[in-house]
Amino acid sequence: TDEQLIAGSRLGDQDALPAAKPVGVLAVVGRPNVGKSTLVNRILGRRAAVVEDTPGVTRDRVSYDAEWAGTDFKLVDTGGWEADVEGIASAIASQAQIAVQLSDAVIFVVDGHVGLTDTDERIVRMLRASGKPVTLAVNKVDDAASEYMTAEFWKLGLGEPYGISAMHGRGVGDLLDTALDSLKKADKTSGFLTPGHLRRIALVGRPNVGKSSLLNQLAGEQRAVVNDLAGTTRDPVDEIIHVDGEDWLFIDTAGIKRRLHKVSGADYYSSLRTQAAIERSELALVLFDSSQPISDQDLKVMSQAVDAGRAVVLVFNKWDLMDEFSRQRLERLWKTEFNRVTWAQRVNLSAKTGWHTNRLADAMRGALESWDKRVPTGRLNAFLGQVQSAHPHPLRGGKQPRILFATQASTRPPRFVIFATGFLEHGYRRFLERSLREEFGFEGTPIQISVNIRE
Ligand code: GDP
Ligand code: GDP
Repeated sequence: TDEQLIAGSRLGDQDALPAAKPVGVLAVVGRPNVGKSTLVNRILGRRAAVVEDTPGVTRDRVSYDAEWAGTDFKLVDTGGWEADVEGIASAIASQAQIAVQLSDAVIFVVDGHVGLTDTDERIVRMLRASGKPVTLAVNKVDDAASEYMTAEFWKLGLGEPYGISAMHGRGVGDLLDTALDSLKKADKTSGFLTPGHLRRIALVGRPNVGKSSLLNQLAGEQRAVVNDLAGTTRDPVDEIIHVDGEDWLFIDTAGIKRRLHKVSGADYYSSLRTQAAIERSELALVLFDSSQPISDQDLKVMSQAVDAGRAVVLVFNKWDLMDEFSRQRLERLWKTEFNRVTWAQRVNLSAKTGWHTNRLADAMRGALESWDKRVPTGRLNAFLGQVQSAHPHPLRGGKQPRILFATQASTRPPRFVIFATGFLEHGYRRFLERSLREEFGFEGTPIQISVNIRE
């Protein structure tokens, strides 16, 4: 549809303005059924109907852009997680633990109807160990007469329990004021916002495409072995890896190593980790297994990276296994499934043999350069002026929308705002994107174009 990403550019609202910078990452954690999803939906202003009754439903998005009272932040929803067969309490605790590690502050939700449980206390121990600021929400306190239910939660030692009704909205404002206050003051350890001098790389792809193998190949002998035991959650491990004369920060390499997909409920998990790694990154290396058919899951990971506005390098791994048949299959797919990322660089390599892995660094440098690139306003307008006189917008109802002025509002990724006298058709915006790419490069980065209508 018209709102979807076309060829990698976010053709969003016609009058969208540059987004504010989020102040940090807030996670909502707690046992199943306490009302986390209801609370998340309430905060996001979505209808409660979005809450799924089926436990363990895999959600598509796990980290949301949220806004409250003028403050922008990231909200991590852990409501879709299912208990693990191996032990409900421990699984919940470790799932919550990952979410907490990926956040800067936490809202811990308990159920006022049920009262305090062992699992709650277990989660509290983990929260305390994490050192992250916690705001305590006692949910299902649907009216003033039920406020007494909050009393017993004082003994958790997390400070004032906020009685709320996620369902009806009662008390949610006060809770968020406090939680966002603590988020603003918190150390930003999630890494979503920490600027560093090293370029941050997320190595992503569905299980078995060869992420660990590539990481090992790039790191050579120097890297530390990462503990692989399921359930032994620890901090996400970022590793500095020297590739082609330069140090790069590879994000959450523990998540790459750990075989989360073997644990039940783990699709959601690894999707959360992928999303979190992408958001912390500047560039995503998206891996595919070229010897296998490309799956929906492959394409979904790629879309996550593009939608997040990251620089992208597509890596077609296991090239040592390619025969004529697979090669042709891939070339056909390239023309169809990869249509929206024709701007991305593609590196065919073998993590196993090391063949062509020396081409990665140049591709990454190129993509990041595009991601950082800024076109001066004068040049941009001169160019769009030429484009427009050679190819004016088609007449619509006797009128001809004209571009008045354009500016590159931001970089990382490049984002253009075009001021026009009327709605610019989809096809025309796509044409503008193609023209901008031809003129200015931008290989390896999505670009976003929004149109602002001035009568
Ligand atoms: P999650 O598993 O923690 O994400 O919990 P859900 O958001 O799916 O909610 C679990 C159940 O509690 C659902 O049946 C909700 O309708 C119900 N619930 C959620 N919030 C409230 C509330 O504020 N009051 C009451 N009475 N029920 C609620
Ligand atoms: P991950 O789940 O994405 O981390 O994938 P792994 O790195 O664990 O690789 C999955 C399987 O593919 C392992 O058996 C690897 O040995 C194999 N593999 C990875 N890269 C290559 C490659 O370039 N060529 C071949 N033939 N096998 C590979």
